[in-house]
Amino acid sequence: MKRVVVAGAGFAGATVARKLAEAGFTVDVYEKRKQIGGNAFDYKDRSGAYIHEYGPHIFHTSIERVFNYLSRFTDWFEYKHKVLGYIDGKYVPIPFSLNSLKLCFSEDKVKRIKEKLINKYGMGSKVTISQLREENDPELAELSEYVYNKVFLNYTKKQWGLLPEQMGDGVTGRVPVSISFEDGYFRDSYQYMPKNGYTELFERMLDHENIRLHLEADALEQIEIKNNRVYFDGSADIIFIYTGCIDELFDYKFGELEYRSLRFEFENIEKNVFQPAAVVNYPNDHDFTRISEFKSFTIEKCKNDIMNTTIVREFPCKYERGMIPYYPIPLKECENKYSKYATVAKDIENLYLIGRLAEYKYYNMDLVVNSAIDMAERIIGG
Ligand code: FAD
Ligand code: UDP
Repeated sequence: MKRVVVAGAGFAGATVARKLAEAGFTVDVYEKRKQIGGNAFDYKDRSGAYIHEYGPHIFHTSIERVFNYLSRFTDWFEYKHKVLGYIDGKYVPIPFSLNSLKLCFSEDKVKRIKEKLINKYGMGSKVTISQLREENDPELAELSEYVYNKVFLNYTKKQWGLLPEQMGDGVTGRVPVSISFEDGYFRDSYQYMPKNGYTELFERMLDHENIRLHLEADALEQIEIKNNRVYFDGSADIIFIYTGCIDELFDYKFGELEYRSLRFEFENIEKNVFQPAAVVNYPNDHDFTRISEFKSFTIEKCKNDIMNTTIVREFPCKYERGMIPYYPIPLKECENKYSKYATVAKDIENLYLIGRLAEYKYYNMDLVVNSAIDMAERIIGG
C-alpha cells in the first residue's frame, strides 16, 4: 500500500486525505494546530452558535461536485448571506445595489441613475468599481466616486494597506456593484451552512480506517528534501502533500513571502441580537473592517429567546513570521516571488502543493476543495 503524508488538516489536506484513503492509500495527516479544520475550525458558544475562531466562514459555491462531495460529510441549512455597510450613519446593503442607491441619493437622482445603469449594463448585471470609474456621464461618475470613496477606499486601505486600484479587480471585483434589487452577498447556486458546524464535517472526513491523524505535529520537522525527493522519517517512498506556506517549506531560500494577517477581538454579549445583519462592514469608521455576529449564520433559525450572542471584530495587520498568514497578497510582485518557489517545487517528484497557502492563491473554500479533488484524482490515476 502506498504511503501518503499530508501536512495540514484544513479543506485542502482533509479532502485529499479522504479521497486517497478511499482509494486504498495509507494516509498520515499531520496538523500543527491542536485541532482540525484549518481556518474553518469552529466550536459552540453558550447560545448554540458556532464560533469561527479564524474569522467568519460562509459556504457558497456554484460547483455542483464540491457541494455533492461535502454533502457526504454534513447536512446543511440554507443560508443567504447579507452584509450591510455602515456609511455616514446609515446601514447600506453591500455589495452596493439599487437598494443601496436609494439610501444614498435623492429621489430624482436615484431615478435617473437607475435608468442609466440599467440601460448601460442591464438589470441583474454586476459592475466592478474599476469599470464604473471609467464612466463619463456626470451622474454615473458621481455615483462611482461615491461608491469608491465610501465603500472601497478606506476598507481596502485597512484590509491590505493599499488602494483599491492597486489591488485590482481580482480583489475588489469580489464585491461588484449590483444592478439589481437583490441584496445577497453571493450569487452562487449553492448557499448553505453545515448544520452542525465545520469541525464535525472535518471529523467525518478524516474518520476513515486508512487515515491516521497527528495533532500538534509539524510535518516539516520530519522531512528532508534531497535528490529531488521529499524524505519523510528517512523514507523517500512516500507521497508528500503540503498545504502550508511554501516559503517555510524551502527554508525561505528566496526570501519570505508576503501575507496579510488579522487580529480578532471576540465579545460575548448578554443580548439577543447585536446588529442588523450577520456582518456589518465599517469602511470608514474604526480600525476594524467588519463585525460578524455568529448566531446569525450558524444557527438554522436564529433563536429569539436566547439573550446571548457572540461577535467578532476583524483588525487587519501586517504579517510577521509567527503570525497566522490569513491572506496571500494577490499582487504581481508577491506572485513572482511565489513562482520561484513553485519552480523549484515542480522538480521534486513526490511533492504536491495544494491550498490557499501552498498555492499562494486567494481561494475560497469551495475552490480549494475542487482543486483538492482534482489533485487526488491525478494521484489515484498515477
Ligand atoms: P488552511 O485552512 O489555512 O489550512 C492549512 C492547515 O495546514 C492549517 O491548519 C495549518 O495549521 C496546517 N499546517 C501548515 N503547515 C503545516 C505543517 N508544516 N505541518 C502540519 N500542519 C501544517 N472562504 C469561503 O469560501 N467563505 C468564507 O466566508 C471565507 N471566509 C474567510 C474569512 C477569513 C478571515 C479568512 C482568512 C479566510 C476565509 N475564507 C473563506 C477562505 C478559507 O479560509 C480558505 O479557502 C480555506 O480555509 C483554505 O483551506 P486550506 O486547507 O488551503 O488552508
Ligand atoms: N471591499 C471593500 N469594501 C467592502 C467590502 C469589500 O472595499 O465593504 C473590498 C476589499 O478590498 C476587500 C475585497 O473587496 O478586501 C473583497 O471583499 P470580501 O468580503 O470578499 O473579502 P474577504 O471576505 O475575503 O475578506
